[in-house]
Amino acid sequence: MRSTRRLIVLGSTGSIGENTLTVVRHLAREESIAFEVVGLAAARNGAALAAQARELGPLAVALADVNAALPDLPTGIRIHRGPTAAVELVKETARPGDLVLAAIVGSAGIAPVLAAIEMGCDIALANKEALVAAGAIVTARARERGVRIIPVDSEHSAIAQCLRSGDPAAEVRRIVLTASGGPFRQASVETIERATLADALKHPTWTMGQKVTIDSATMMNKALEIVEAHWLFGLDAERIDAIVHPASIVHSFVEFVDGSVIAQMSPPDMRLPIQFALTWPRRAPLCCTPLDWASLRTLDFHPIDHQRFPAVALAGQVIRAGGTSGAILNGANEAAVEAFVAGRIRFGQISRLVAAALAAIPAVPALTLNDVSGADSAARAFVASEISPNLPKWRCSTQA
Ligand code: NDP
Repeated sequence: MRSTRRLIVLGSTGSIGENTLTVVRHLAREESIAFEVVGLAAARNGAALAAQARELGPLAVALADVNAALPDLPTGIRIHRGPTAAVELVKETARPGDLVLAAIVGSAGIAPVLAAIEMGCDIALANKEALVAAGAIVTARARERGVRIIPVDSEHSAIAQCLRSGDPAAEVRRIVLTASGGPFRQASVETIERATLADALKHPTWTMGQKVTIDSATMMNKALEIVEAHWLFGLDAERIDAIVHPASIVHSFVEFVDGSVIAQMSPPDMRLPIQFALTWPRRAPLCCTPLDWASLRTLDFHPIDHQRFPAVALAGQVIRAGGTSGAILNGANEAAVEAFVAGRIRFGQISRLVAAALAAIPAVPALTLNDVSGADSAARAFVASEISPNLPKWRCSTQA
């Protein structure tokens, strides 16, 4: 039996957060691997947060939305409320050596991740936006504090596993991230342009939160993941590729210098990479149904169609430009996705708005969190002005 590790789950009421708690229960019940959940953070789903707190008895909870209802909690659980609640929870609750599962969606996750690193915690990272927008700062502080950033994203978990087969610094030719292709894998440019929110949310293989599901539909998710891989594995843009693999069985692969290719395969179930991040670097017995080899007839791969999915190429642009370009990409994408969900822009405009933001806003060195938040704000303001009827000059550049 291993010793109990303290765990804080940021974004505990979301898709990754809920799956994380399922894995925690599985490990405790089946494998005698115990986690003490000491902190839980969410944005506005107070009912779910309270239910989790009643079950798990954390030391503290955080709820970002001050207006959201939070049912009564057992006495003794500290409550943090407001936009900085997750950061306060981390600062008050975390101890060096704890594990923080970072699954807040979007750039709201950056400050809590940095706070956890400062506290000396290892990070199991699902919140890819933290690396896309602030990768230089997050990875530098993690190195300085001597903490690990363990990938939760299935593609990056796969690459981390494949890299155990060779010397990551000397023997890797390139890494290839797989992509399901999302709901519009076979759709025409015209269909993609006018896709509805309901269309965009019908992901063929994964059940995820709304924002990442829309990112998968534009394939902006793959751009974010390529930038994430750049920061996690220290590779330049030329050595990170992506390919469509509709079955989502091969989660990514590494080509080594001798031509060997090592791939990681498993069912498309996020509980698996989550479990591996929790038990890293060791494996624990299965948390989900294994692959059925008898029913697996083909594994097909297709090149990405950059005409229909222009978002993917933005990753290389961002990696090469460096500085705050990742924050611009991420901020513009978050704003454009919000505008699409609100019915203010067409689906096809999301990627064009992000590309236009990158072209219009100069990247500067990302030395501090202020540089990152400045670029994020500029990108959001740019997208707002683009879709405002009062500012026609922006509209000209992005309308179909
Ligand atoms: P969800 O939308 O399902 O969940 C987001 C979580 O973040 C919720 O718990 C939400 O709380 C919480 N949250 C949002 N804003 C704040 C805030 N300011 N402070 C505290 N908590 C906040 O998203 P997912 O779980 O799908 O995704 C989470 C992250 O993981 C994303 O970065 C995504 O890209 C990444 N990821 C997700 C995968 C998946 O399969 N879902 C796969 C790989 C990566 P509330 O419920 O109260 O709104």
